[in-house]
Amino acid sequence: MDGTARFACSVCGSPSIVLPAVLADEAVVSCGGCQSALGSWLGYKSYVSRSIHAEYEAVPVQPMICVDPIIARALAEAL
Ligand SMILES: [Zn+2]
Repeated sequence: MDGTARFACSVCGSPSIVLPAVLADEAVVSCGGCQSALGSWLGYKSYVSRSIHAEYEAVPVQPMICVDPIIARALAEAL
């Protein structure tokens, strides 16, 4: 991974999102470009967690430790 955002809205191509006002798992995350519903907050958190974990797995030698609670499982495995 090179730090470049990989996410893009399938409707308009925008990499921007709008978070729900209340961060409940079932709340809707929308596209910041066209306002299309992209999915739930729970789904978005899962996507981000998988993306960060994939970057972590791609580091061949030096282990990366992240204290982001979204990937707490990966941190526990690193310790
Ligand atoms: Zn869009």
